Amino acid sequence: MTRRLDDIEAAAYAAEMVGTAHCVACGQYITEFKDLLSMREFCISGMCQKCQDKVFDSPEDDEEDDESDEHSVNCYFCGDLFDERDAVPADKWNNNDGGEACPECAKRLNKDA
Ligand SMILES: [Zn+2]
Ligand SMILES: [Zn+2]
Repeated sequence: MTRRLDDIEAAAYAAEMVGTAHCVACGQYITEFKDLLSMREFCISGMCQKCQDKVFDSPEDDEEDDESDEHSVNCYFCGDLFDERDAVPADKWNNNDGGEACPECAKRLNKDA
């Protein structure tokens, strides 16, 4: 499709493709479209209703799955994950190499110093 279709043409084209054309994304037969917008989108993208729903609905759903680790950092010294709110800057023990020390290592290193 190179030419821009008007609404009626888009609807007619989409209706004609139902049951005959395949979705470019999932390869399934085109089934029904829920509204004119979806029909127009099909004319542009060639995607079935299901794939359109997948692409356009809730775009930020998959972004936050490691939220539980949001405040976790690795200790520069022992490598353990710990809460960054307990972090002590490791610079004074590693010649400003950056990173954070966990409370245990900070305590140990403070004692050694
Ligand atoms: Zn599809
Ligand atoms: Zn540590």
